[in-house]
Amino acid sequence: MSETILPELPQELWRAGKLELAHGVQQFLQVIRVATAGLGQYLAEIESRGAKDLYGYGSTAKWFADVAGLSFGEARPVVNRAIALNPTRGLDGTELPAVAPATAAAAAEGAVGDERIQQILDFLASLPLDTSAEDREHAEKTLAELARHAGPRQLAEAEQNLLGWLDPDGAEPKEPEPKQPRRELTLERRKDGFWKLNGLLDDEAGARTAAALEAYAAPRPVDEFGQADLRTKPERLGDAWVDLVDLAIACPDQPGTSGYRTLVHVTIGLDELKSGLGTACVDYVGTMTAREARMAACDCLMLPVVLNAAGEPLDVGRLRRFVTPGQRRALNIRDGGCAFPGCHRPPKNCHAHHIHHWADGGPTDLRNLTLLCGFHHRLIHHGDWQVRMAADGLPEFIPPQYLDPLRQTRRNTLHRAA
Ligand SMILES: [Zn+2]
Ligand SMILES: [Zn+2]
Repeated sequence: MSETILPELPQELWRAGKLELAHGVQQFLQVIRVATAGLGQYLAEIESRGAKDLYGYGSTAKWFADVAGLSFGEARPVVNRAIALNPTRGLDGTELPAVAPATAAAAAEGAVGDERIQQILDFLASLPLDTSAEDREHAEKTLAELARHAGPRQLAEAEQNLLGWLDPDGAEPKEPEPKQPRRELTLERRKDGFWKLNGLLDDEAGARTAAALEAYAAPRPVDEFGQADLRTKPERLGDAWVDLVDLAIACPDQPGTSGYRTLVHVTIGLDELKSGLGTACVDYVGTMTAREARMAACDCLMLPVVLNAAGEPLDVGRLRRFVTPGQRRALNIRDGGCAFPGCHRPPKNCHAHHIHHWADGGPTDLRNLTLLCGFHHRLIHHGDWQVRMAADGLPEFIPPQYLDPLRQTRRNTLHRAA
């Protein structure tokens, strides 16, 4: 190591110009930094040989604290920086490379001081454990070059950028346990009254969902009047979704429903329910047309709360509406599925439609009930088609005049054939 020549102090400092002063500060600052780097090399060598063997101290920092008149807390970071910037040897003689060689080079030139060196070392220590050696090396080099001219804030900014580049997901806790499947669903009501369904499913749940939807989303076969299913794929999937929800609601094991297929309330005035005109209130979140409410109330897809003109609840909704499980079983056997001509839907996808609506005084008994799938239930409530009970106790359907000018009655023979 060559002798370091200290800059000469001018004879009369008070005479020095501002440039001379600044230059002097720069010179001594560099000397301090170079000296600190040199001191670090000595400390690293003592660490390599072992302070215990050399001087009988438990650690290099303890020894250095005594020599320099420092507290252990003051001495320790000095020694730690020295070890990080210089190669050392382990007790068994193995070479331990410097953690921050580029920073060490800048320090040896006197270009960076302790504070920026510590900032770089702290950053390197904060990197995720799985950061590759190349990435560490690149980050250290970048910061060391920048630290020659940059202050703490600029260096910190560069560190943030590097961190984003090295570890875009942030510090994630390592999970030793198998991951929980990721399933998320959000359902929110929009201002326009539509509901927005959004979700993210793991592969297994996604595949099951797709299979369940596909099973109900197939296009309806061309019916006997030559009408094809004109629904788009998303529309068919949407209808399939509703079928699945109905199926879940109809399941007697459904939690919290006591076996009834009702979870949602629809509040409607008796006049509106009878006429199908006006609006109804759905579970206090939105409105639906009275015609929709009439259909929903038909098989208690929703629990109707029927109000009189004064807004008081009437018993009519509670007393007349329920199709008992026994009636439903008998209905399933009698109709075998959707009773609409040409429909394949099995009983589990069907509603029990009141031919004469209970709100108009129609009884809830087999002679007034028929199974209809969601689609044909809607169609019947729309009014162009009519359903009535034939003399033999089976439902028959009357097509609208635009389909059959003679309006001859039709029946579904598919379930019976099966
Ligand atoms: Zn109905
Ligand atoms: Zn049907």
